[in-house]
Amino acid sequence: MEKVLKKDNLRDWVIALSSYEVHAPAFEDEVWNFKQVEKPEDAALDHTNTVKPPKDFSFPQREVYCEFAQKKGEAPMVTETLPALAAPKVVFGVRPCDGRAGPRNDTVFSKEFDDIYYWMRRKKVAQVGLACNTPPSRNCFCTAVGGSPHSEDGLDVLMVDLGDSYLVKALTKVGEEIVKAGGKALGNASAADKKTAAKAKADAEKAPMREIVDIKTVPENLQKNFDSEVWGEMAQACIGCGICTFLCPTCHCFDINDEVTNVTPLRGQRVRTWDNCQFPDFTMHSSGHNPRNTLGARLRQRVCHKFLYFVQNHDTYQCVGCGRCISECPVGIDIVAVVNKVAHDVG
Ligand code: SF4
Ligand code: SF4
Repeated sequence: MEKVLKKDNLRDWVIALSSYEVHAPAFEDEVWNFKQVEKPEDAALDHTNTVKPPKDFSFPQREVYCEFAQKKGEAPMVTETLPALAAPKVVFGVRPCDGRAGPRNDTVFSKEFDDIYYWMRRKKVAQVGLACNTPPSRNCFCTAVGGSPHSEDGLDVLMVDLGDSYLVKALTKVGEEIVKAGGKALGNASAADKKTAAKAKADAEKAPMREIVDIKTVPENLQKNFDSEVWGEMAQACIGCGICTFLCPTCHCFDINDEVTNVTPLRGQRVRTWDNCQFPDFTMHSSGHNPRNTLGARLRQRVCHKFLYFVQNHDTYQCVGCGRCISECPVGIDIVAVVNKVAHDVG
């Protein structure tokens, strides 16, 4: 289903989606991030890319699994806290790289068993993508990892900017429902609209972006150069802040802790929080031994997880080329440069 939406009518579409919680990029504190739309007239899609990806709609940074309490002499009581009542959400303005992150995270959270905490949220999140007619960041490299600035992968709807309107293409059943809900806010797309969108796609795919040299040989070269000194050299400036992984749309490691809020009587919560392979204690054994006790070993893990282990396990790269880890690293560690250097000695 393909429709056309005048830019001025985005507000009416948002109003028509009143049975959903609608989110869109908002510019606050000098950065773009997703925010619930409170006033439909504020909804606009003139963002670059959000600093935080949309992954925490399905996989929040902190979530409570259950609450526990124990009275003296009694067995502990455990109350599960499932996200069953999470409102269905429509997220506007998802860039195609972030759309492609979704299926990768879905694989992780369903490979061996379905992670119900993830899936109860994920099933209620519809992603309305916005194609990139020009790369929103100088660090974009979606095309180097099999993506496209107009990729439809993982999205429910894709919007393409046509100037004073958008071509709106429903890609899933949920996407069709969202587009249909827009009613008269959206009109039928003409052949000219579709032709303009196709040209925008062809031009966008030719736009210069960061490049990974001979990507097909990267996994085997990373394996071959596992013990290279280059890892340590390239990680020298790293301060271990973990920004690169926390902001990555596909990083998904987590920790589970019991947070005790009262000792007698016992009361607390079991929580899942994001974890981070760039932190020294990520692999720390209780004996004190740490198999990844250097910055180089931790950088190698981040890069190899994305370009070697994920390929071995799931037959695709775990990087979608959003460029956030490059743009936001406070010391300028650049995953494209690291991959090219370790795999090909380029750079
Ligand atoms: S963002 Fe940069 S400095 Fe921080 S952990 Fe990642 S590579 Fe190291
Ligand atoms: S590794 Fe970096 S460029 Fe790749 S998806 Fe994660 S944040 Fe984006």
